[in-house]
Amino acid sequence: KAQKKHWELGGTKIVLIVVRHQVILQEKKTIIEQRQYLPAFAVRQELLNIIRENSVVIIVGETGSGKTTQLTQYLHEDGYSKYGMIGCTQPRRVAAMSVAKRVSDEMGTQLGDEVGYAIRFEDCTSENTVIKYMTDGILLRESLREPDLDHYSAVIMDEAHERSLSTDVLFGLLREIVARRHDLKLIVTSATMDSTKFSMFFGNVPTFNIPGRTFPVEVLFSKNPVEDYVDAAVKQALQIHLQPPSGDILIFMPGQEDIEVTCEVLAERLSEIDNAPELSILPIYSQLPSDLQAKIFQRSPEGIRKCVVATNIAETSLTVDGIIFVIDSGYCKLKVYNPRIGMDALQIYPISQANSNQRSGRAGRTGPGQAFRLYTERQYKDELLITTVPEIQRTNLANTVLLLKSLGVQDLLQFHFMDPPPQDNILNSLYQLWILGALDHTGVLTKLGRQMAEFPLDPPQCQMLIVSTQMGCTAEILIIVSMLSVPSIFYRPKGREEEADGVREKFQVPESDHLTFLNVYNQWKQNNYSSHWCNEHFIHIKAMRKVREVRQQLKDILIQQKFEIKSCGTDWDIVRKCICSAYFHQAARLKGKFK
Ligand code: ADP
Ligand code: MG
Repeated sequence: KAQKKHWELGGTKIVLIVVRHQVILQEKKTIIEQRQYLPAFAVRQELLNIIRENSVVIIVGETGSGKTTQLTQYLHEDGYSKYGMIGCTQPRRVAAMSVAKRVSDEMGTQLGDEVGYAIRFEDCTSENTVIKYMTDGILLRESLREPDLDHYSAVIMDEAHERSLSTDVLFGLLREIVARRHDLKLIVTSATMDSTKFSMFFGNVPTFNIPGRTFPVEVLFSKNPVEDYVDAAVKQALQIHLQPPSGDILIFMPGQEDIEVTCEVLAERLSEIDNAPELSILPIYSQLPSDLQAKIFQRSPEGIRKCVVATNIAETSLTVDGIIFVIDSGYCKLKVYNPRIGMDALQIYPISQANSNQRSGRAGRTGPGQAFRLYTERQYKDELLITTVPEIQRTNLANTVLLLKSLGVQDLLQFHFMDPPPQDNILNSLYQLWILGALDHTGVLTKLGRQMAEFPLDPPQCQMLIVSTQMGCTAEILIIVSMLSVPSIFYRPKGREEEADGVREKFQVPESDHLTFLNVYNQWKQNNYSSHWCNEHFIHIKAMRKVREVRQQLKDILIQQKFEIKSCGTDWDIVRKCICSAYFHQAARLKGKFK
């Protein structure tokens, strides 16, 4: 175990570390020094000049050059925050939260004070907030209330290369807002060189490249196609770890399940090796509690190698310093509309060549690195798309259509999209909104449609909530919708699966997951929202607290909209009817006997 002592000498922090009686003297960079070391700092003034002279600027820079954490601060230091907030959008919630925390640390303030963040159902900002990180979905919703985004003096659309659905829609809207508001600065940032498209879209606006500081990365393909990428990744990580060259490892996996298994198997195999050096295995994915997420940024004790196992969150959104080795499974999870079930589904797909190159690039930030691709060179060339299909062309657009309609965009086929969605997708979404009663025969928003747009939920959930006010079961539907808005509330600890299942059976309402949820919430409430009760019943207390918050927020909107909140008591057939009224298009008739 290492012992540490800290001093400060003339502004420089000195850390004395004692490991197994060896003394290591380490100079720790202060936060100011860390900021000044970033590539963006070298061109700070040039950046500010080009932004001052233009309404829209595209900024391209390698991941880790300081786009996300520094640009907002530069604008703030240059006085932009006097005229309005500096907003920065992120396609991912984790990135919005994590970066806001980092920037508030750099500025020496409390998170939520001068620097804050907002994601769906969670607003961590205050009246003092001048730098606001948020998901692109949040800014999109804000434009409903404030079509010209008057609260902002500058908007940074970060991670534009990700081409998330909300970013793409915002592109179209912001293009018009900038034309109306000459005082607004719009900055679009991208990690890839494919910036010409962005520049052309906004009318040939200037592009600024932040000169990078990268080292060569040796790319090694797998000789044969890999059958089990988790197993292959574990083997590769062990092989790296048991060799002398130091440097941290970053493994890319498609999602949470694979990450958990990889971490487990890696730890297990390592424990079977005699005298194996210690390895600090750190997972990161969006549903991981934020204190555990923060661990990936902490420096591990001297001499201990770090192995971060991540989703594509670590591809460009978050940068972990010190990575020398990258192991790339070649897969990611994408949201894709499945017309057969009429829903979006998160499924595992091969990554694109662009993703693959970004992933490899993570190995060359601090020194020459190596990237191990768990696919063959032939697969890379023949099977991977050059870039990923933008989300707007592959997901359900009902939500987007509803939003654009409430913003007064009548003819969606004429809306200025960077890459228009397939016409079939738009027509499909219009149809879906029409059968829900949100649009009339001429495609104009109905009263119900306008009410639906007020809720940050999917159209059928909005509809269910509003219909419940007519059926007198809003108290119940409010709980069900809130339960559906958080990740899984049940857990099954390893080795105690049967016990957990047994307890869960106590809540089970036959044939209805929705009513099961309602049941769980009601019992929790009857037990005074107790955490002890949750633990006893294998229920995540944090998730339940989140449900309570979401419920309150949705309730506030209902009250604002002057809806009455009635309960149907124990007459759950009314709840069943209400659910059917919103999901009838996903109903099926059972043929034959029901067991
Ligand atoms: P870019 O947006 O250009 O990819 P960032 O602004 O995200 O770059 O990152 C700049 C630097 O800040 C990187 O070296 C990164 O490691 C560091 N950094 C970002 N977030 C954190 C954090 N939460 N903890 C420690 N360092 C961080
Ligand atoms: Mg960034």
